[in-house]
Amino acid sequence: MARLDHREAPTPEVVPVTATCVVCTQPEPDAYACVRCGITKPTEQLTAIVDMVPAARDVAHRLSAATGGSGGSGKPGSTLPLDLGATERLNAVQGELTTWVRHITAERGGTPRTVGSDPIIHSAWYLQSNLEWMRHRAEVDEFLRDVAACARVVARLARGPADRKYLGPCGAFPFDDNNDQDDQPCEGDVYVRGEGSVGRCRECGAEVARADREAWLDAEVRQYAYTAGEIAAAYPIKRNTINQWASRGRLAAHDTDGNGRPRYNLGDVLDLAAADAARRAENESKRARREVAA
Ligand SMILES: [Zn+2]
Ligand SMILES: [Zn+2]
Repeated sequence: MARLDHREAPTPEVVPVTATCVVCTQPEPDAYACVRCGITKPTEQLTAIVDMVPAARDVAHRLSAATGGSGGSGKPGSTLPLDLGATERLNAVQGELTTWVRHITAERGGTPRTVGSDPIIHSAWYLQSNLEWMRHRAEVDEFLRDVAACARVVARLARGPADRKYLGPCGAFPFDDNNDQDDQPCEGDVYVRGEGSVGRCRECGAEVARADREAWLDAEVRQYAYTAGEIAAAYPIKRNTINQWASRGRLAAHDTDGNGRPRYNLGDVLDLAAADAARRAENESKRARREVAA
């Protein structure tokens, strides 16, 4: 934004003085960005964000969970926090988009109409409906760069077809025994297709055995804390059951999320669920034996 400050007009209804589009440098006498760069392209990107956020959220939900920002918790061969793989990137996207929403509402007034329950989708719709205004603003080039970057992040997380499964960040796994040149862990994402047995990093092409990765991820995810609702969405355990364990003192909250909801260590919850299932099975077989005896 800084390098365009001299173009900023003093009133909210800006009359731009640029003669060319700030993106493609084609002649554009009426606005800072031409229609193709300022409307068509960001409309595609914002629509793609709306379309792909559910899949990206799904990835974040299943694998990352909020970690309270601690990160780097004893993963093999890496200090890369697992949540960098998904949740933190989605939070960053959400932060970028809502910052622009706030910027626009501060300038234009009004309250954005709420569309959908996902704040990213909500912001994307709002921004889409303000593109014409935005392309007359000096800060439009920064805005367009942010929208494009957000669309890339969401697309990378959602990664197209549903038959591709996210296997975590590449550098979090010691796939690489002979490369001693480069000590930086790769920050690419590993995906596996369909029922494939080998996952591949999109950045560096490194291959990992799916079974190893899944076992590692299961162990990783167990350490993280989730709300009862998040656990109930991902595992066959009722939210009420989790809340009951907590109120009866069988389960201690790890911390709370941004909305003050308690988060529980997933491993604790899975252990309690396994213990209850074992007890139910035991009771069943006892009753069966009694019935046979009678
Ligand atoms: Zn242009
Ligand atoms: Zn890699």
